[in-house]
Amino acid sequence: PYIIRISNLCRYYTMGDQTVKALDDINLDFRRNDYAAIMGPSGSGKSTLMNILGCLDTPTSGRYELNGQHVADMDDDELARIRNREIGFVFQTFNLLPRLNCLRNVELPLVYAGVEPEERLERARQALEQVGLVDRIDHKPGELSGGQTQRVAIARALVNHPSIILADEPTGNLDTATSHDIMEIFSKLSDAGNTIILITHEEDIARFTRRIIRLRDGRIESDSAP
Ligand code: ADP
Ligand code: ADP
Repeated sequence: PYIIRISNLCRYYTMGDQTVKALDDINLDFRRNDYAAIMGPSGSGKSTLMNILGCLDTPTSGRYELNGQHVADMDDDELARIRNREIGFVFQTFNLLPRLNCLRNVELPLVYAGVEPEERLERARQALEQVGLVDRIDHKPGELSGGQTQRVAIARALVNHPSIILADEPTGNLDTATSHDIMEIFSKLSDAGNTIILITHEEDIARFTRRIIRLRDGRIESDSAP
């Protein structure tokens, strides 16, 4: 029942006669409901791993299976579909459009997916409800606190009902109390069946998850409960 299976995965960067092993023989599985933090010093391979998990980058060698399908065998259309429907992305800097209100920001992935306007609004509202933000529907990102803004970004990531949420330092710009609220939202989402994988530098944040994967020099140093 693994949603993600990674075996003997390597990602090398070659520049001139130098090769950097950003990921070096990684074996890693994730189940539905997993709530995992990826930790490790700068340069240990965290971003590279997230980019591969998000189908934004391809490994040099090894296998990545998503829902039993080999990602390497997928064509561009299938990869685009996976990135839009199966995976929701959340970023440290939120990446919302400043001129659109919350509802329109959250609705945007559904516009790209070709969903009808009425259904779009209904689903955007539902996603905002999931993150506890229905009362701010008409506000623009600049009119919200950092925590509220990140909730909108999470709602946008959820609106296509993805099975996996990938978050790169989602609490990096938030104060402690707000960060904890965001981690609780992810916890509820994982209980509801989403696979949540996030990068963080902070032990205090990682302990909200159920699994901490530590990378060092492109290898898994440890993988255990907090
Ligand atoms: P983080 O803040 O997550 O540790 P980095 O600052 O290491 O991320 O990297 C930011 C981005 O720059 C990443 O997308 C990564 O792929 C890219 N990058 C990192 N190191 C190099 C490098 N030596 N040459 C080119 N691009 C790099
Ligand atoms: P982290 O996110 O943990 O800081 P990265 O995955 O960004 O680590 O980087 C892992 C290693 O790969 C580092 O040595 C980095 O310099 C290198 N690297 C990352 N992206 C690139 C790139 N686009 N070109 C060359 N080297 C890269």
